[in-house]
Amino acid sequence: MEQFSFVSARSEAQAAEAAARSATAQIGASVRYVAGGTNLVDLLKLDVERPKQVVDINALEMSRIEPLNGGLRIGALARNSDVASDARVKRDYAVLSEAIVSGASPQIRNMASTAGNLLQRTRCPYFRDLAQRCNKREPGSGCDAMEGHNRMLAILGTSEHCIATNPSDQNVALMALEAVVEIRGQRGNRNVPIAEFYKLPGTTPHIETVLEPGDLITGVRLRAPVAGVRSGYLKLRDRAAYEFALASAAVVLGVSGGKVTHARVAMGGVGTIPWRAREAEAELMGKPATREQFVRAAEAALKDAKPRSENGFKVELAKRCIVHALTTVGAA
Ligand SMILES: Cc1cc2nc3c(=O)[nH]c(=O)nc-3n(C[C@H](O)[C@H](O)[C@H](O)COP(=O)(O)OP(=O)(O)OC[C@H]3O[C@@H](n4cnc5c(N)ncnc54)[C@H](O)[C@@H]3O)c2cc1C
Ligand code: SF4
Repeated sequence: MEQFSFVSARSEAQAAEAAARSATAQIGASVRYVAGGTNLVDLLKLDVERPKQVVDINALEMSRIEPLNGGLRIGALARNSDVASDARVKRDYAVLSEAIVSGASPQIRNMASTAGNLLQRTRCPYFRDLAQRCNKREPGSGCDAMEGHNRMLAILGTSEHCIATNPSDQNVALMALEAVVEIRGQRGNRNVPIAEFYKLPGTTPHIETVLEPGDLITGVRLRAPVAGVRSGYLKLRDRAAYEFALASAAVVLGVSGGKVTHARVAMGGVGTIPWRAREAEAELMGKPATREQFVRAAEAALKDAKPRSENGFKVELAKRCIVHALTTVGAA
């Protein structure tokens, strides 16, 4: 692990000021925030992240979960365990609670923060191994995953430069809930809809979000729940606990008179970013809430899938995941 200095920020302004000295908010940044540390510290130990300074933001008052405009505001430092067990989240945003609980372990969720989860890096094994070529870790170096072991990697939103999966469960639920990310930057505060927060890899897989140097995430906003709408999360993986998704589906569904009145579908484990399945939503809206229609929606969601040598099975798996999630939530 390379040497770096460590400071504790006492205010949001102090934290943002320190990080503004960073050349970039992405990999290779010279100043990084640390919240729970469950992702960053791993990557420091592996020498994948090599900042000159780490700014501890845990003293900042950003842990509250509070009502906002009929919805909920979740502070950036709210721990995953606290969010998942919050009575308002369980009642109005079940998909978020279920997604968080499906991830990692209780100990990790006790440390993991909302913002840290938003920004956790890919688990692509080549990204975490300095002996392998990786465009995300070292831009322009190549990608050994393309012809390598890519069973866990993405089939949607890929490019010739990167096929890494976004590993988060929380973020899939936030995508289906159309959450908004609050950011404090050098030019003031801004709110970014989560659908615009993540960037597809394209030719620059090292740039993962719209964050700019010095940006501090201060919270996440959830809009008021739609009356009569239910939600849920289904995660399929190699073992029942402590494992990342092969495919997952976050579903927010409203049904009235046997027809779909509200549909938001997002997928995990298959996309280079938490994947909003707008084609599936279009197949559902106004249509009968039947298994046949759910199958059509799943087909639409995966129509642009581009599997590699080892991950073709994800196409069918993801379809079945969507159908099962819709059926379960629709029948609840
Ligand atoms: C063994 C293991 C299993 C796991 N399994 C799963 C799983 O199944 N599903 C899943 O979704 N996740 C899983 N995770 C990942 C875990 O959820 C993340 O590590 C965690 O959410 C990261 O949060 P953190 O607060 O610890 O982030 P940190 O490690 O502190 O930070 C992560 C990144 O976020 C940045 N950051 C943090 N806060 C802010 C802020 N306020 N503003 C700007 N930047 C910020 C940091 O600079 C860093 O780049 C697993 C992790 C481990 C170690
Ligand atoms: S898939 Fe992306 S993260 Fe994985 S090795 Fe290729 S460039 Fe790196």
